[in-house]
Amino acid sequence: MATEFSLLERTILKAKGLTEEQVAALIEMGVLARTDFEQIGTVMTLLELLPDLDPAVAARVLEWALPTAATVPNPTEIAAVLVPNISVDASDAVYCTHCNHKQPKDYTPGDLCVNCGRQAEPIEQCFWCGASGPGKRCRNCGARFVRTAELSLALLLRREGLPKDEIPRRLEEATDEEKDEMWGRVRRARL
Ligand SMILES: [Zn+2]
Ligand SMILES: [Zn+2]
Repeated sequence: MATEFSLLERTILKAKGLTEEQVAALIEMGVLARTDFEQIGTVMTLLELLPDLDPAVAARVLEWALPTAATVPNPTEIAAVLVPNISVDASDAVYCTHCNHKQPKDYTPGDLCVNCGRQAEPIEQCFWCGASGPGKRCRNCGARFVRTAELSLALLLRREGLPKDEIPRRLEEATDEEKDEMWGRVRRARL
């Protein structure tokens, strides 16, 4: 059908990791072309529409569909914005996620590692407000970041009405069985 994703768009979406079913589900919701992703706008919203979608796939899809909006600002830009209101707690040393090198005292979230030159901390997506940034907490709403792989679980708990501060704690304390059970609820929410 001419009004749905072009063959090329479908091919790209699948290359990004979407399944045939997920593409079909998007079409059913009225997402018929690359430009429709502009209304979805954020990884969060896409995960709310497709709760069983892998957050990494969602990020790749939006990166393609919204070349400018999804671009993560470069670390120095982030640092320039963040420096004035950050105080680095000396006891809370930051170690590079790539090479494990301890960062200097004047380290600011978003800085590149002084040892290997890569982003010392990953850019995280906030489960609560959808903003993204480096560090342990969302600069926009203050929520503590959860692991990217567990973003869908955090969204589930948010939908179920858990308060913002409670969600990261619940995920940290959950056993593997409890998490399996939560993934079950994520999948059922799709049906
Ligand atoms: Zn490093
Ligand atoms: Zn937030």
